[in-house]
Amino acid sequence: MSYAADFMAEVKARNPGEPEFHQAVQEVVESLVPVLEKSPHYRKAKVLERICVPERTIMFRVPWIDDKGEIQINRGYRVEMNSAIGPYKGGLRFHPTVYLGLLKFLAFEQVFKNSLTTLPMGGGKGGSDFDPHGKSDMEVMKFCQSFMTELCRHIGQFTDVPAGDIGVGGREIGYMFGQYKRIRNEFVGVLTGKGIKWGGSLIRPEATGYGCVYFAQEMLGTRGETFKGKTCLVSGSGNVAQYTVEKLLQLGAKPVTLSDSDGHIYDEAGIDAEKLAFVLDLKNNRRGRISEYAAKYKGAVYEPYDASMGFNPLWAHKADCAFPSATQNEINLADAQTLVKNGVYLVAEGANMPTVPEGAELFVEKRILYAPGKAANAGGVATSGLEMSQNSLRMNWSRPEVDAHLQTIMKDIHRSCVEAAAAYGMPGNYVAGANIAGFIKVADAMLDQGVV
Ligand code: NDP
Repeated sequence: MSYAADFMAEVKARNPGEPEFHQAVQEVVESLVPVLEKSPHYRKAKVLERICVPERTIMFRVPWIDDKGEIQINRGYRVEMNSAIGPYKGGLRFHPTVYLGLLKFLAFEQVFKNSLTTLPMGGGKGGSDFDPHGKSDMEVMKFCQSFMTELCRHIGQFTDVPAGDIGVGGREIGYMFGQYKRIRNEFVGVLTGKGIKWGGSLIRPEATGYGCVYFAQEMLGTRGETFKGKTCLVSGSGNVAQYTVEKLLQLGAKPVTLSDSDGHIYDEAGIDAEKLAFVLDLKNNRRGRISEYAAKYKGAVYEPYDASMGFNPLWAHKADCAFPSATQNEINLADAQTLVKNGVYLVAEGANMPTVPEGAELFVEKRILYAPGKAANAGGVATSGLEMSQNSLRMNWSRPEVDAHLQTIMKDIHRSCVEAAAAYGMPGNYVAGANIAGFIKVADAMLDQGVV
């Protein structure tokens, strides 16, 4: 068997029942084969073997009492994957599908992503199988307080600094920060994505979506093109999707879709600033469903999602660019084929691992501009890094200052990916470029720090 096949057999045997983690590792290992051949010292020091094992995994019970007075029990997790280049950093996800393997995949991706940002951050991820949908604010607060009561022993501004992810936005970060402060009696930057009035950074809410579009803009630039007049498909309608649409509008593109787990809307006339404001209120304040968009805007069509169809019709609308911004594996092979057939020639992943491996292979093979999540959505964690810097300095930077940092970081990540891919004989392959550039920095730090 080849090195990659042997390696994967071992990873699967040691991490049974964790398909998303296997998928994430497989993609990275395949990209790194040429690096390990050229630099055998990484292989001798078993760097890759070590990177695939979390430095620490914390699992705990999260009991809380709902509005009816009934006791509820959820599971809480924090995967501290790698601290070679800085404190663990990565989001918390609250979603019923959360289990250890899902968080290991996300924490693994985070290690490479954080390395690409140029900032000193290691990788981690955490969360719970708690579902915030349909819960009252009081229930969300009680859950967050119980979750943080245990998590606060394991995190800290120099140790591990969580942020938001699916199901964890400003509201949840606020409740968790309050509980951390109460128990530990310290006001420090232990979480990012905080409110602007109490330590948060301007542009952090926008950063993942904006950063993804900045990265895509760099890719278009390699072909001498801009976003002006480009039709764009966007999935999801949460934090990442909302600010992807906002930046696309600012750059003259026409976003035409949004979705949630129930279905998607298609608005041929384009989602403009006024319609986007409606979506922000719908999703962030009223916590409603995207179907309400089509009820409000007559030209728009809503189509419910039906998993038994074997494809997602959102990806079948004619467009130039696609921004998957909902969840993992939301573009299957049939969707990827449809996108390519319809002439979509840029895919920038706002979500983490939204494309199945066969779909990603197709994008690479067809030589479209394809940015994997660990490069394209790194603007979120990068701006979290900037929030940490501002907290340490006890200063707040202005919107233009943070935005300028974000743009520089996304340009740097783009350049690193392009250069690493070219150096290893795969020009234009952003998947290989991101994996290689992200790996080398972490691997060298691990070598410097000995067998720990
Ligand atoms: P939000 O919770 O704000 O929004 C998630 C959106 O995706 C919602 O519209 C949600 O619909 C939809 N969604 C979630 N799960 C599924 C599912 N299983 N099937 C279909 N739709 C689903 O999360 P974010 O916008 O923060 O995160 C979106 C993606 O971006 C995730 O992959 C996340 O890991 C990634 N990401 C986020 C970053 C951030 O800064 N927030 C940073 C980097 C990556 P519904 O309400 O129906 O569940």
